[in-house]
Amino acid sequence: MEIKANPNHVCFKCGHKMESALQGEEFFWDAAADGVVFHGGGSYGSMAYDSVVNDIGVNLVVCDECLKKNKNRLQEIKINFKELNKMLKNKEKSHE
Ligand SMILES: [Zn+2]
Repeated sequence: MEIKANPNHVCFKCGHKMESALQGEEFFWDAAADGVVFHGGGSYGSMAYDSVVNDIGVNLVVCDECLKKNKNRLQEIKINFKELNKMLKNKEKSHE
């Protein structure tokens, strides 16, 4: 699966247009300037996007302003990238 930088992100909630935060190169993920790109392979139980059923996932972008205004509707998740990278490296070593 390859995701290319999208120069025309549009906020799912308010329609605000955003450029890609990634310029000049191709990446395997995408990022919006002033927003968050959510990548979903679908979800079991969804009648709209269950990728197990039809191989179609979904990307959606929400601008930072809408995220801040609606913070009470989301769940923040603490992500410790240092620990995550350590875990991934240890997992790689165990497969060598
Ligand atoms: Zn918005």
